[in-house]
Amino acid sequence: MTRGPLLSPVTDPLYLDDPDVRRFEATVDRSLGDRIVLDRTAFYPEGGGQPADAGVLEAGDRRWRVTDVQKRDTIHHHLDGEGPPAGTAVTGIVDGERRRAHSRYHTAQHLLSAVLLDEYDAPTKGNALYADRARLDCDYDRFADD
Ligand SMILES: [Zn+2]
Repeated sequence: MTRGPLLSPVTDPLYLDDPDVRRFEATVDRSLGDRIVLDRTAFYPEGGGQPADAGVLEAGDRRWRVTDVQKRDTIHHHLDGEGPPAGTAVTGIVDGERRRAHSRYHTAQHLLSAVLLDEYDAPTKGNALYADRARLDCDYDRFADD
């Protein structure tokens, strides 16, 4: 697909090809104050009940905390201050412990949801994942209290 010059560049989501990338090189495509868009990223944006990754971006001796990652037209990284300008080469470092916890809860939630649906015809109505716990909501009126 060719992109016209007026269309925003789309961030290459490295986490889809390799969920274990924790450190990567990228270039800033757009700088929007304390939000930036990169040409590629290993930061997972909030979605599917899974919270956004956290971590840091470095450029030379400058360093920013990545406080939020949101998918809009493309993937926006929220920083703890004014971000580097477009064209800056950066190194991204994903908080691996946080990602690992989210991934494990996310996988467990899908497995539990599948079992509840297959064995009890109880569809999942909602879920929430955190780094230290997860919640799953389903049709509990089919179950006894125990
Ligand atoms: Zn999911």
